[in-house]
This record gives sequence, C-alpha cells and structure tokens, in this order.
Amino acid sequence: MRFEISKVLDAIEGRLTTDPKLARAVLDLAEVVRYVDFDGGRPATLLRLGMVVDALGRQLAEENVPVYVVVHRALLSDADLTSNERMVVRRWADDGVVEVLPNPGERVLEVADLLGLPVLSRSRFDNAVGRYPWLADQPGRLLAPVPAAGGPALVAQVGGGHEPTSAAPSPVGVQLLGRMWRCPDPECSSFGSMRVGRSGGQPPPTLRTGMPTCPRHDERLTDAGHRPRAELLSVRIDGMVRRRFVVAADEPVVVGRAPEGGGIILGQWLTDEARRWISRSHVRFELQGSELVAHDVSTNGTGVRPGGSTDDDQRETLKRQARPLGPTDVVELYAGVQIGRSRLWQTGGVANPTSVMAEAPTMAIRIADR
Ligand SMILES: [Zn+2]
Repeated sequence: MRFEISKVLDAIEGRLTTDPKLARAVLDLAEVVRYVDFDGGRPATLLRLGMVVDALGRQLAEENVPVYVVVHRALLSDADLTSNERMVVRRWADDGVVEVLPNPGERVLEVADLLGLPVLSRSRFDNAVGRYPWLADQPGRLLAPVPAAGGPALVAQVGGGHEPTSAAPSPVGVQLLGRMWRCPDPECSSFGSMRVGRSGGQPPPTLRTGMPTCPRHDERLTDAGHRPRAELLSVRIDGMVRRRFVVAADEPVVVGRAPEGGGIILGQWLTDEARRWISRSHVRFELQGSELVAHDVSTNGTGVRPGGSTDDDQRETLKRQARPLGPTDVVELYAGVQIGRSRLWQTGGVANPTSVMAEAPTMAIRIADR
C-alpha cells in the first residue's frame, strides 16, 4: 500500500500553494486530517486533505484547483499520523508549499481576509465575526467539508448553499501584496532571500500590531520593493478549465504539448489531432511593461481571437511573431485549446474533475499504514 499512498501524497502536493494568485481556498491541516467521519479510519491521515481538495474541485467544476494550507507545527510530530506522513508534511514545510506556524491562531482567517478567499472549516469562528464580518455576511466564504454520497462535499455555514465564493483582497491585503518582503532568516521558505524564482508567489505577511511580520519566524519583515506585476491565466480545453498559471514580470511561461525546460504541459488533455498540431513548445507568455504579450514559437502558428470572438474570420494567426493581448483576447493553439485571463471564465465547466485520490486503493484509506 505504501507505494500507492505516496503517489496520492504526490498528487496532493501538486495542489498546495501559498501563491496569493493561485490559491482558491484556505484550510487548517490539523483540523482536516481529523475528519474521521469521512472514512471511519485512523484518528488522523493526510488522505483526508485529498478528499477536501477533491470536494473543492468538484464544487468549482475545475481541474487542478490549489489550496493554501496552514499547518500547526505540532502536527509535524503528531503520533496519529504515520511516520511517512509526518515526513511528507516536513518536506512540504521545507519546500514552502504549506505554511507551518508555531501558533497559527487566526492565520487561516487572516489569509482568507487578505486574499479574499473562502475558508474550508467546520469551525464557525463565532468569536472572530467582529473582526471578519464576511464570515457572517458572505455565504460561500466559510464552507464546512462534510461527508456526502459520492465523496465529501462543502456546505456553506451561513445562508446554506454550496458555492465557494472569492472576493477581492482586503484593502490591507492589496497594500501587503503590492510589495516584496524579506525575513531576517535568508532561508525562510516564505520570505527568505534564498528563495529565487518564486518572487511573484510570495505569501502575505501576517500583521502583528499593524507591522508586517513573518508568521513562521515571528520576526519583523523588511520592505524589499515593488512586487513584480503578474497576470493569472487559464488553460481551457473544449470549454473546460484545466488549470491556471501565473505569468510574472520576471518569469515568462512557455505553453505547449510538452515544453522543454519546464512550462505548462498540455499533452495529457489533447486529442491525437491536437497533439500532432501543437508544438512541444508552442507559445510563450511574458509581461512587457504593463502589457501581456503572446509570442509564437511553434511550427504551425498561434491563433488569437480578439475579444474572445467566436467568429473565425476575426481569428488572427501569429507566425513566430509577438502580439500584446487585450484584456479579453483569447489565444488559441488549436481549435478549442485556449488560453486567456482567468477572470474571463468564471465557471470551470468540468463535470468530474480528476481526483487527487485516483491512485488510492479503496482499502488504503482504512488500513493503518504503520
Ligand atoms: Zn521567516
């Protein structure tokens, strides 16, 4: 069973992010791992995180939906997890894909407030409603993961309903996310100067007496200048949103069938015809000043549909050319294989998103894997 479980944990790891642009909900791992009523199994298991991630994906009808996970440091030594699970959480912490804190307190609510995200929790946070009125005012900002036929579901704790709702970042969140921050610890996985290549994805600081602070080290952060601009894009194939990605000012992104040297891999979602047409590296997205630019690097060319037009007469083709994209322009690599700004496509259109639990043998969830 171990092998399959580690594959599931890898799949779950692919859905963890502290990038403010990519995260779709916030949760407290120490709470979620103890939802024993999901499966009647061990007192705690990481597999329940996968079940909650799946529930979020189903309710957003979207593939590859990432979550922002806050972890109480005590969980790293929690004997209710297997030693393998504890090791995995430690790795996630070291890689900075989860936020491990000595005292999470209300960090889940703070992150949700700063980023405008929904919280996935069974707690009602009655004591925090004064500070975070959206807990009571906005149905869909606080959703309880509960057992349901066909797998766990999310239920709004206020006003009923099931729709996870995002809002704009709070005004303080906008200020904090406009800057880069530095922790005195250069190896800090959130704000360290050693963390190269993830500049746009830096998580939000915590506020202690109004001052931006590293939630992990409890140290005052210094302002390291403007955060590079970034655009959030979605891959939509035959009407289904398969994943989102970020293009930051210092990080161009190549999209194709299987780009060399990293990038967004489309191969897994393509028909044979589309696979033949689309180049390994097909189109590069980059930010030039205030503009998002698509640069064709393919054999067959890249289409652009101005304003998302469905009229084929308006479709332009780039041949090794670059073109700035207007806010509603859609890039098309092959018929139905599209990339545009994420806000263009509010619903994901995926009836059955791929489960992170796909590799889990049914029994694995119940068996004590010690
Ligand atoms: Zn730090």
